[in-house]
Amino acid sequence: KVYEPDLYGQTGKSEELYLQAKEVIPGGVTANIKFFEPHPIMMERGQGSKLYDVDGNEYIDYLLCYGALILGHGHKRVYDAVFQQMRESGTTIFGTPHVLETKMAQKLVEIIPGIEMVRYTNSGLEATMLATRMAIAYTEKPKIAKFEGHYHGGTNEFLLSVNPDLSEAGSETEPKAVPESKGIPDYFRQNTIILPFNNLEATEQILRKHKDELAAVILEPVQAGFIPANPEFIKGIRTITQELGILLIFDEVKTGFRMSMGGAQKVYDIVPDLTALGKVLGGGFPVGAVGGRKEIMMISAPEDGKDILTTGSKNGKKEVLFHSGTYNGHPTVLAAGLATIEVLEEEGQMDRLISATHMLRNQLEMVYAKYGFDMQTVGMGSIFNIMLTKEPIQNYRDTIKANAKIRKEIDQKLLRLGIYTKPLNRYSMSVVHTGEDIARTVEAHETVLKQLRR
Ligand code: PLP
Repeated sequence: KVYEPDLYGQTGKSEELYLQAKEVIPGGVTANIKFFEPHPIMMERGQGSKLYDVDGNEYIDYLLCYGALILGHGHKRVYDAVFQQMRESGTTIFGTPHVLETKMAQKLVEIIPGIEMVRYTNSGLEATMLATRMAIAYTEKPKIAKFEGHYHGGTNEFLLSVNPDLSEAGSETEPKAVPESKGIPDYFRQNTIILPFNNLEATEQILRKHKDELAAVILEPVQAGFIPANPEFIKGIRTITQELGILLIFDEVKTGFRMSMGGAQKVYDIVPDLTALGKVLGGGFPVGAVGGRKEIMMISAPEDGKDILTTGSKNGKKEVLFHSGTYNGHPTVLAAGLATIEVLEEEGQMDRLISATHMLRNQLEMVYAKYGFDMQTVGMGSIFNIMLTKEPIQNYRDTIKANAKIRKEIDQKLLRLGIYTKPLNRYSMSVVHTGEDIARTVEAHETVLKQLRR
C-alpha cells in the first residue's frame, strides 16, 4: 500500500521514520495495537499532560500509555524516586530480595481489599497468567472461564473472545471461544469457557454446567476500563463462584488505582480471591503483580521443607507452584510505583482526578448533543470512552453497535488538532491534566463535529 505523503499535513517526518521502521519491524510497530492508518505518529518527548512528536506537534495525551501514566509524563516525584534509588543503591537491579519489594507489598495489602500477599511480575499479562496458574494449582481443576471481550493480555488462554463479525461467536447467552489471533492452538479454545458479561442468569447457568472443571473466573470489573459491571451482576458472580468452589480473579491491571485507590473492588465492595495488577503500579515502567488470599498465594512459597525445584515432586505431585522472572520486583520500577502511589494518596488527589474526568465527559456530551450526534460517554473513575450510539453499552456485543466509522474519522481529525487518543481508543486522565487542557479538548471536538455535521 502506498501512503499519500504526509497525509495529516503536519507529520511528514513521522511518516518517513515509520517507513524506515517498517523495513525492520513488522508493521513498524512493537505491539499491533500501536498501529493506525495512515501511519502511527512517532513521539519524541513528553511533558505533563502533553506529548510532542518528531515534527514538533504538541498533543494533549489521553492515551497515557494505555492508562499507565496516571501522573502524566515525567512527574518530578517519580523521576526523583527513580534516580535516588539508582544513585543510593549504586545499581539498577539487585537480582536478590530487597526492601522495596516488602514496602510495596505492605502498601498493596493496606489499600486493596482482596490482597493479603503479593508476588511481582513484569507485565499485566504475566500477572493474569500467574493468577490463573495459581487458581488451577489451588483448586486442582483444569479450566478457566473468561468474559466475552475482556482483555487480560495477549496470551493463548485469553485471546479468545473478540470477534466483531460474530459469525462464529455463538449466541449472546452462550458465547463461544473464537481465537483472536493466528497461532492459537486449539487446546486453549477447548479449555477456556466464555461467559456473557453483565448477564447473571446466563453466566450462572454456564458456571453450574462447568463447575467441576472450572478453576477460576477471571474478569475485568470494568470491561476494557470503561464498561462497568452492574453491581448486582458482580455481587452475584462473587456469590456463585464461592458456592461452586471456583476462584474469582479480578483483573485490575487497568482499573487498579484508576477507579479508587483500592481498585474497582473497593468501589463495588467485593473481595476477589486473586487480583492482577499492572500499569499504574509501575509508575511508567513495566510491571505486574498478583495479590490475593494468603492460603492461595502460599502455594508458590518455597518453604516448610517443600521441594522448590521445578522438577521436585512428592508422591508424583508437584509441591510448589513455579513462579520466576529475572526482573520480578525490579527496584527501580518499584521506586517509581511507590512514588506514584504516594502522590495519589495525597489529600483530595483521587477525587480531583475523577471529577476532572467527569467534567470532560459532561462537556463532551454537551458538544456532541449540540451538533446532533447520538453519543454517550461510558466509563468509571478516570477512564471513559466515547460511544456513538444511544443504545445502552453493557458488554462487548453492545460496543459493536456504536458507529466506529465516524468515531475513527473524528479521532483522525482530532490528531491534527493536537488531541491524542489513538483512533478508537479510550480516554484516560492524569492528575496533571488542567482545566485548560479540558477546554482545548472540548474546543477541538467542537471544531471537528462542526465539519462532520451532516
Ligand atoms: N489486563 C488488562 C485489563 C489490561 O488492560 C492489560 C493491558 O492493556 C493487560 C491485562 C495486559 O497488561 P500488559 O500489557 O502490561 O501485559
